[in-house]
Amino acid sequence: MPLKRPALPLTGGCSCGAIRYEVAGLPLALYTCNCTECQTASGSAFALNMPVASKDLHFTKGQPKGWHKTSSSGAKVIAWFCGDCGARLYGEREGRPESMTLRAGTLDDTSWLEPAAHLFMRSAQSWVQPAKGAQCFEEQPVPAEFRAALAAWRSRFE
Ligand SMILES: [Zn+2]
Ligand SMILES: [Zn+2]
Repeated sequence: MPLKRPALPLTGGCSCGAIRYEVAGLPLALYTCNCTECQTASGSAFALNMPVASKDLHFTKGQPKGWHKTSSSGAKVIAWFCGDCGARLYGEREGRPESMTLRAGTLDDTSWLEPAAHLFMRSAQSWVQPAKGAQCFEEQPVPAEFRAALAAWRSRFE
């Protein structure tokens, strides 16, 4: 099923409006992560993650604050959030400067969001249902499988 192509640039920001951003290009992917860390960080059932090319992400108002941590997989990450209202905006992985993973719920228009994949389904809430055409993974998928799922998602926009 084809996906509605969003108007570019995408725009979004934090809850209080101190931070605003734009994304100049089509995102690289969209997936949920149901791991317990994402459940805690979001205060909800899962995180809705949208990697974008770093060159496409521009802040038009304010500058987020960074919190450094080591993820359960051992990766060093920086979680960027608004210092005023605390809304989580995106994550950055050390050694992977080419992409930033936005929290897609911070977009102004979320009507077109349909995830390509669902990660860490082993810790998903029992009532979480996968999106149509999305792939489910019990944990973090191996890179080749994950790339294939995301490429399938991007091709649905063409
Ligand atoms: Zn804010
Ligand atoms: Zn997660």
